[in-house]
Amino acid sequence: MANRWETVIGLETHVQLRTVSKMFCGCSAAFGAPPNTNVCPVCLGLPGALPVPNELALKLAVRAALGLGCTVHPRSLFARKNYFYPDLPKGYQISQFEQPLATAGSLSYLSPDQGIATATIVRLHVEEDAGKSLHDRFPKQTAIDLNRCGVPLIEIVTGPDFRSPHEARAYLLTLKQVLEYAAISECDMEKGSLRVDANVSVRRAGETALGTKTEVKNINSFAFVEKALTVERDRQIAVLEAGGTVAQQTMLYDSKTNSVRPQRSKEESHDYRYFPDPDLPPLMLSEEFVAEQQTQLPELPAKKRERFVEKYGLSVTDAAVLTAERAVADYYETVVHAGSGADAKLAANWVMTEVLADAKDHGERLRVQPGALAGLISLVRGGTLSHQAAKRVFSEMAEHGGEPRNVAEALGLTQVADTGVVAGWVSEVLGAHPTEVERYRKGETKLLQFFVGQVMKVSRGKADPKLAQRVLEERARSLGDLK
Ligand code: ADP
Ligand code: ZN
Ligand code: MG
Repeated sequence: MANRWETVIGLETHVQLRTVSKMFCGCSAAFGAPPNTNVCPVCLGLPGALPVPNELALKLAVRAALGLGCTVHPRSLFARKNYFYPDLPKGYQISQFEQPLATAGSLSYLSPDQGIATATIVRLHVEEDAGKSLHDRFPKQTAIDLNRCGVPLIEIVTGPDFRSPHEARAYLLTLKQVLEYAAISECDMEKGSLRVDANVSVRRAGETALGTKTEVKNINSFAFVEKALTVERDRQIAVLEAGGTVAQQTMLYDSKTNSVRPQRSKEESHDYRYFPDPDLPPLMLSEEFVAEQQTQLPELPAKKRERFVEKYGLSVTDAAVLTAERAVADYYETVVHAGSGADAKLAANWVMTEVLADAKDHGERLRVQPGALAGLISLVRGGTLSHQAAKRVFSEMAEHGGEPRNVAEALGLTQVADTGVVAGWVSEVLGAHPTEVERYRKGETKLLQFFVGQVMKVSRGKADPKLAQRVLEERARSLGDLK
């Protein structure tokens, strides 16, 4: 049924810029201060108070625009978006409407449906946030916190480019990566520093005109973006299949029940009576200012991913994992270049498995020094440590630090390459597995790997596996079987 319908999604993402102060006044923009303590005449809209744009916010907005390949306009306009809401004391939000800061960008991302895909960035503009209505502080009453009033935001609007909820999510995660790399925003959905309004419509497969869209709000995690869009998409399909029509409206997502309900009929932009803010002159940005922001951008994830593939011979997926976070990518490269240099692919495997797993359990800290990991990898390569033993050394170093060789010796893990000792373990294993020995004798030669595994086990990872294999092979050859 559902495959007779095509899903169309466009995202509007609000991102809080990483500044100390607000967009048009000197109040702190920090999250979590006691309610209504970060306010002043400007952000409260008291008579006679005048806004002054925050230069760092403008720099960060321009960096975001450049990072997303947008054209940054030398002249843009601040406009008033007028509406009443209890958490909006001025009665309007300063935003940009007709002449936004930047337009016509794109972001390439790894789509789960179609591989590398490109989302168009229709526009990126600067605006200020509104306050917050809190419904859970006092029974049956709404409390207002105006700390967020005037906090600097950018809004990033895509074209109707996504064809599935998980594709929309993949784009968002990539957008977050770019903004985090360039230190533009913390992008924490739970703290509200990244918020998404998700527009969705459906149309019959093959149709070219867009269907009527709804806008889903109140989504506060990346996983919920996908869920909310799925629920709303399915609701629209059900309405259309029953012969009804989709009403253009704003829907609120409830994550507890995984359902949507209409909030209000969607307002049109003319309802907001936008007009240029008479208190703010047009925003003029010099070529030098914009060029300077370009120099402040680091290598962004897509570029880094491509470079990792080229330079280190990694697969696209591995390179994508390693470049998802800048700190991890930097760590990886330090490991590869540490000392005499670690093998790039081995290092990639270590970082993607042990390092990331350990970080996940320890507040995203990368606990083993990159130099120590590089040393550990060479001990494995040189045959001093088995891979299994190296994992134990890794955990030990994560907990208590230390140099890999010292730690391995202290744990008694350095690999035993003494043929006599290994031969002893081989005998022990053969003696303990008469059934497998019998099967081996009957021609099941692939059991050799099983025996090697058992030798590693009884030696608690200390046997040199290559030596163990050789001893086993010799035993089989000289005796015709393994007895
Ligand atoms: P509005 O005026 O309602 O805000 P916009 O044209 O500004 O609508 O688009 C807002 C967002 O909705 C954009 O991300 C856009 O790509 C997306 N969008 C527009 N039309 C549709 C549609 N029919 N289906 C899905 N998304 C859409
Ligand atoms: Zn203020
Ligand atoms: Mg719009």
